Amino acid sequence: MRRPPLPPLTRAAGFSPHQASVSNRCLSRCLSRHLHLHLHLLALILALSACQSPRTASNSQSPGRLRVIATFSILGDFAQNVGGDHIELKTLVGLGSDVHEFEPNPSDALSARNADVVFENGIQLESWLDRLYTSSGSQARRVIVSQGIPTRRITTGANTETDPHVWQDVANAITMTMTIRDALVAADPPNASAYQANAAAYIAQLQALDQEIMTEVGRLPVENRKLVTSHDAIGYFAARYGFQVVGSLLGTVATASGDPSAKVFAQLVRDVKAASVKAIFAESVTNPANMERLAKETNVVIGPELYTDSLGPAGSAGSTYITAMRHNAHSVVSALLGQQ
Ligand SMILES: [Zn+2]
Repeated sequence: MRRPPLPPLTRAAGFSPHQASVSNRCLSRCLSRHLHLHLHLLALILALSACQSPRTASNSQSPGRLRVIATFSILGDFAQNVGGDHIELKTLVGLGSDVHEFEPNPSDALSARNADVVFENGIQLESWLDRLYTSSGSQARRVIVSQGIPTRRITTGANTETDPHVWQDVANAITMTMTIRDALVAADPPNASAYQANAAAYIAQLQALDQEIMTEVGRLPVENRKLVTSHDAIGYFAARYGFQVVGSLLGTVATASGDPSAKVFAQLVRDVKAASVKAIFAESVTNPANMERLAKETNVVIGPELYTDSLGPAGSAGSTYITAMRHNAHSVVSALLGQQ
């Protein structure tokens, strides 16, 4: 089942009713009193900098470069690969942090105010972004990087949600790279040829990655291709590479619930036992305690931690999107083969 196409580029003013409803729904949860304090500080900072134009207020070290924001590390990696030295990139959500539940600070607001382009995933992933954007007074062009990608719906009990984790399918990552390329070309025409060349080189690497994952998954008998994760973050990976998602601990595409309900947990225990999986998987952005409880109750091992919603630090297996996806595929296949 597919949703209607996502809206095109969203400019400074005039959010859609859809975006407004997302913002309102998440307001009470996402905007803790810490953020309110931050926004008070932000108002003060913006008042002090009111005499400066957005173009001159930046603390940029390279004022000639296009100022780009990516909401989280995976989009940041795509943007850096395409933008190269021609962009000055700021990624808002830090490595290992949760993009679903992010709380911006005044420094993020200043970056938004000074940005030329904001790359966001969309599909309700960044519930905090509308408020940051409006409170900062940003005039940056907002680019929904998932635009044009068919989305998946996940139903758990009476609850149906649209899965925002499109990047878990490498074919979608290629589409996202093309969207980023086109937006950078539009925002900075003098460097168009560089963006196009960088994107072509990166897309070639992504195509090779896609084939590599297909080959890796080929080692695993079809009947063993079953995934259990912390939250519903890996459905696009499963659909692309032929896995069945048995279930997830939180039973939701978001992470706000923190802990599964007793009912969801009991059902998942039954499902995991019935599926006879050899391993289940925790993710780098979620608390592993509940997954350890599930492993104990089902007598199944926990596989290596997967990179789903964030890249890992420099030097880790998940330091780039390509290495993270390679790590995830190899970890899943090896663990489900009982080879870890
Ligand atoms: Zn997620």
